[in-house]
Amino acid sequence: MLDSAVQTDVLIVGAGPVGLFLANECARRGIRWKLIEERSSQSIHSKALAIFPRTLEIFDMAGVVVPFLEKANRVTGVAVITHRRTLAHMRFAPVESPYSFIAMVPQNITENLLLEKLRTRGGDVEYGTKFLTAEPQDGYVNVTADRNGERAGFTASFVVGCDGAHSSVRHGLGLALEGGEYHDSFMLADIETNEVLPSDEMQLCPSELGPLAIFPISAKRRRIVATIEQPQGDAPSLELVRKTLAERAPGGIEAGALHWSSYFRIHHRNAAQMRRGRIFIAGDAAHIHSPFGGQGMNTGLHDAWNLVWKLDLVLRSHANDSLLDTYEAERLPVIKGVIHTTDTLTKVMGTPNKFAQVLRDAFIPMVSHLAPFQHAFVQRLSELGIGYRGSPIVEGPGTRYFDDSIRGGNHIGSRFLLLIDETGGTSTEAAKQLCEHFQSVLELRPSTCRGITLVRPDGYIAYSADHGGASALESVGSLLEKQVSQS
Ligand SMILES: Cc1cc2nc3c(=O)[nH]c(=O)nc-3n(C[C@H](O)[C@H](O)[C@H](O)COP(=O)(O)OP(=O)(O)OC[C@H]3O[C@@H](n4cnc5c(N)ncnc54)[C@H](O)[C@@H]3O)c2cc1C
Repeated sequence: MLDSAVQTDVLIVGAGPVGLFLANECARRGIRWKLIEERSSQSIHSKALAIFPRTLEIFDMAGVVVPFLEKANRVTGVAVITHRRTLAHMRFAPVESPYSFIAMVPQNITENLLLEKLRTRGGDVEYGTKFLTAEPQDGYVNVTADRNGERAGFTASFVVGCDGAHSSVRHGLGLALEGGEYHDSFMLADIETNEVLPSDEMQLCPSELGPLAIFPISAKRRRIVATIEQPQGDAPSLELVRKTLAERAPGGIEAGALHWSSYFRIHHRNAAQMRRGRIFIAGDAAHIHSPFGGQGMNTGLHDAWNLVWKLDLVLRSHANDSLLDTYEAERLPVIKGVIHTTDTLTKVMGTPNKFAQVLRDAFIPMVSHLAPFQHAFVQRLSELGIGYRGSPIVEGPGTRYFDDSIRGGNHIGSRFLLLIDETGGTSTEAAKQLCEHFQSVLELRPSTCRGITLVRPDGYIAYSADHGGASALESVGSLLEKQVSQS
């Protein structure tokens, strides 16, 4: 049961996209939550742009996708262009998802949309409140913070550090980010352009001077990211952006007004642990990677989505504490995979070796039109290919499940769904009995899928069988038994 002496169930540190999404998900599930943020308001920078199909599906299940679709510029193609020659053109339109495009939404808009939704759900961010320490106690955590210069104290059942790459929560746990830093410095610029490049395609432009990537924010606005030999001044000037485009971009693109520019260095690092007792880290607090591939924010949002239903079940005494260990067990392999993909992309795009450049420029046109290559590329980037195979609470590949019955924000919460073949073949009576046995966490739904499928509260398949016989229902029962406590 919830402990009323504890002020809040989940204290979230940091109102970036990950903290805001986690707060929304807590609110949707009726979890008591508090979100503290050291800034006095949201950041105005457009940092992360790309929202991938699986993240849109997650937003859909969470009931927040509609305004994102209204704001997004939809991208359905990726071109690789070098020396003004198109090496490859790949369609990015995965047919298995209703979101068969990349939604380009500047991060400040993403944060504002999540904040607006949070407010409609009756919550808000506690700005000007900087997390200082977290002291685990028996059954809760004591947290201290600096609230506009005054010391504040909170108690929470769980703390989640969504406080970015320099996470104080992570430091407090004594967890280091393992990995390394890339040698190159990067420049980023959001510019007004002419319309020579299609607004539904992004361009990756490798060259001997270093890689350059062009992301369409809208018909006349582009994000330029490129390596830079020597940063000049505090931020890249329009002149520098024009020079870099002239040297490395497809012909004809012109840079008009400069909206935002910045230099940055990039790392490929992840924390070896994402949980210590009642304290967790998520998002950039737990992993940072190259912006080539645009996976950072998406991966952090998936962390929050993976964690929140587990916290909910444990808070309601419907699951054992060991369920919380599966957060790290499931997310770390995914995070390492994302770091590997973005690292490969960064190295292939930016190799300084002339021979490797020649090979790359010959190899890409050959393989890029092959269906298996395109499929693998889209599966990786879209994050639709993520599965939790090998997790202690999954039997089988643990791939995603998505259909109309779980969309819209009211159709999947913190319960498992037992989908049974409505055309017959499954013992409905036995399935009903199983659901009664696990009534606090399991819901029976007829479906057109063959046999039976056990869908987790985050839309991943925990178990499936193409028949609904006694052995399949027994497997479902023992899988649930492992993680669920009967109350
Ligand atoms: C230039 C650039 C381009 C990028 N492009 C992409 C892209 O296209 N796609 C993509 O997916 N990702 C991209 N990223 C990465 C993306 O911006 C991050 O992955 C994302 O911001 C991570 O979100 P977060 O909520 O984990 O952390 P953050 O956005 O860093 O938010 C952390 C929050 O915690 C607050 N905070 C910190 N310390 C404390 C404290 N002690 N107490 C209270 N609050 C605290 C901070 O003020 C901040 O608001 C890009 C990043 C950069 C820099």
